[in-house]
Amino acid sequence: MAISLQLCRFSIRIGSDNFGGRSEALPFRKPISVRCSTDSTSVVVDPDNFDAKSFRHNLTRSKNYNRKGFGRKEETLELMNREYTSDILKKLKENGNEYTWGNVTVKLAEAYGFCWGVERAVQIAYEARKQFPDEKIWITNEIIHNPTVNKRLEEMEVKTIPVEGGKKQFDVVNKDDVVVLPAFGAAVDEMLVLNDKNVQIVDTTCPWVTKVWNSVEKHQKGDYTSIIHGKYSHEETIATASFAATYIIVKDMTEAMYVCDYILGGELNGASSTKEAFMEKFKHATSEGFDPDHDLVKLGVANQTTMLKGETEEIGKLVERTMMQKYGVKNINDHFLSFNTICDATQVRAPRCYV
Ligand code: SF4
Repeated sequence: MAISLQLCRFSIRIGSDNFGGRSEALPFRKPISVRCSTDSTSVVVDPDNFDAKSFRHNLTRSKNYNRKGFGRKEETLELMNREYTSDILKKLKENGNEYTWGNVTVKLAEAYGFCWGVERAVQIAYEARKQFPDEKIWITNEIIHNPTVNKRLEEMEVKTIPVEGGKKQFDVVNKDDVVVLPAFGAAVDEMLVLNDKNVQIVDTTCPWVTKVWNSVEKHQKGDYTSIIHGKYSHEETIATASFAATYIIVKDMTEAMYVCDYILGGELNGASSTKEAFMEKFKHATSEGFDPDHDLVKLGVANQTTMLKGETEEIGKLVERTMMQKYGVKNINDHFLSFNTICDATQVRAPRCYV
């Protein structure tokens, strides 16, 4: 596929303040030049108006990018099956899904094991090792939060990009290396760095996560601010936020109510107060230059796929009601946008943990 060749400059704001925990992103980047072509690094960027969507779109079509695996399912089958079996599981199944060890009783949840998105990600990562037996393989973060799988990848010499001083050290990655993106994705500036290095990218991002990215890109297109229901330091939310133009991240209903109360000038529950207090509260959870008086007029809701479905839905309804109250029912479509991006697998599993 022919993609126009361009020289491009862009700068992306990834403030380190915003990225606590393991998922530290890159520091602010100065504008850089990137040659764009499917023959090499395949970035297509407008020098003055970087478009994350176009960049991602073109990256997925480049030669150095794979997100479908390598047709080596058979070769990884035994390994995959091993991840699904254990002595504990066997014991539970043999005993009506419940067993007591000493004074601890373990019950087997109705839904357990990897969701299909995780299974897919692990499968692709294992296949990558088979496909590139001699290359150095890096991963930008834990592929999934599962110690057994992560240990297995370590044994296969799939190394995690080191983090120093809260920043990922992409200097360790060289041109002929392979870099795996985990199931919850990677922030756009990480993709840019890897693309710039012209490495082989193996993207295991779950399609449900990509669906959320698509929705925040639609928000952006319509000049809507994305309200992301998630945790601002969670890798998935960091990645999602990187594809949004203007965003605010709320971790729960209480924070969503605070935002809505601010929109309604304190008429919801009086939780909010001044603009300064608002900014202080969400200082780690908003896009650069966020202004609650300007950026809460057109809103779209997106979510971190691991959040509870019920809470995301409630937040969506709350925001919708708030915008109706503020702007009138007949104008709601100009002020509120919603797409269903709730992952089914999470919804099957998460409630099983609360029974
Ligand atoms: S988004 Fe859903 S299907 Fe995808 S990895 Fe997460 S829980 Fe699994």
